[in-house]
Amino acid sequence: MPRARSTRVLAVVGLVLIACGVGAWLLIRPPAASKPAPGCVILITIDTLRADRLGCYGARRVRTPSLDRLAAESTLFERAYSPSPWTKPAVTSMLTGLDPAVHGIVSGGQDDPPLPGSVELLAERMHDAGYRTGAFGYNPYVAMVEDLRRGFRDYFIMPRLDAEIPLDLYEGIDPRDTTAAISGITERWLAQRGDERFFCWMHFYDPHLPYDPPKDYWTDDHRSQPDPAASRGPTEEMHSQPFYRPDDNERRQLRGLYDSEIQYVDDAVGRVIATLKRLGRYEDALIIVSSDHGEEFWEHGGFEHGHTAYDELLHVPLFVRTPHAASRRVATAVDTPSIYATIADACGLEPAEHAFATAPSLWPSIVEGVDPAPRDAIFAGFTLYWEPQRTVRFGRYKFVHKIISNDVELYDIEADPGETTPIGDANPALVKRGRALLEAHRAWAEELRGRLRISSEGGKEMGEARKKLLRSHGYLK
Ligand SMILES: [Zn+2]
Repeated sequence: MPRARSTRVLAVVGLVLIACGVGAWLLIRPPAASKPAPGCVILITIDTLRADRLGCYGARRVRTPSLDRLAAESTLFERAYSPSPWTKPAVTSMLTGLDPAVHGIVSGGQDDPPLPGSVELLAERMHDAGYRTGAFGYNPYVAMVEDLRRGFRDYFIMPRLDAEIPLDLYEGIDPRDTTAAISGITERWLAQRGDERFFCWMHFYDPHLPYDPPKDYWTDDHRSQPDPAASRGPTEEMHSQPFYRPDDNERRQLRGLYDSEIQYVDDAVGRVIATLKRLGRYEDALIIVSSDHGEEFWEHGGFEHGHTAYDELLHVPLFVRTPHAASRRVATAVDTPSIYATIADACGLEPAEHAFATAPSLWPSIVEGVDPAPRDAIFAGFTLYWEPQRTVRFGRYKFVHKIISNDVELYDIEADPGETTPIGDANPALVKRGRALLEAHRAWAEELRGRLRISSEGGKEMGEARKKLLRSHGYLK
């Protein structure tokens, strides 16, 4: 590589490292012991939940009183983004603190690399620090990533492929109603904790497809539709026909069902919070609420998630409730891999080099009541279907690169948050900057993978049982 170009690339790599938070982290890390570590830590992730469907993010026609009450006691990040528009990369990033380009758990099959011991998962660190660790959730993609269970003493991510859930947690609970099963099992587990310190991760599957909310939770909008009881709508057809174009009635029906599912999950979260209060564990609880990705409703022509990386898929809720901070709202853009470092930091754990190098802790900003340092760039991508894409947001812009066609799109997301009017043709310098940031990020990720000894080889072949499981959920055709 010519010297001038190599210098330029190194300069951009440096910029990306700063963007990824290394510099900011070293500069602003407070003494870990400045606040007492919480006795209980609960991470609640709600699959497929768009930020704009919660009251605390401005929704008016979806009622989410439990989450809104919690948000009203929290530091709420108004602009939080997932690094991927589908479950597996996004959830792995929250639990490893690593960008999907680094951890590499991005395959729709089972050819992901194993996570080596050099990648220390959040639950491993919490377990080593003396927290009882439990995970309760449902998503076939999460269930298939064996490494995600590392560090969890009690790991009940359904559908289970290998073992049974102990009867005392499970008896009388209907696993087909995943939301009630997750909250019910978690409440029993919480009741068994006494005054033990614990870290609990709940991953609700609703409002993921199929949309099948109980009647009691229908929104008023949905209730007023001609046939609200057509509970699954045309979703199964749409899964098998990606170019299926529903009419306006079907679209309204699907939106109504989706919103109703959110009301259902909100109530389940409310029951868990009530249980925590009843057990006297709420007072010093650290509670983090977020989602792995959103859902698209034809804003850019498509439906569901995993196909594109527009903000209806990447903009997710993120709020953090701790007794050590007054409630406030933060407008600075952040991303969800920071959840790892934020929890580790709140618990006074020593930083694991890889986690803090990738996504900075939000804890100093939360307890000090100041905005986090703005990131120069926030990356996302790793679509599941259609054309692979990478995106980077920098300043007021978002740049999208479609990898096979080499098409690019640039949006001014401050003036055009719906990403409807590409401005790349008129702004070649910004397009060039977007490309340079993505290239530098790719090189940085490759270097970090090498340091962490993450293989670039695929893993084992997908077994028949897993194929059948994914097929039954519409993931495999
Ligand atoms: Zn998901």
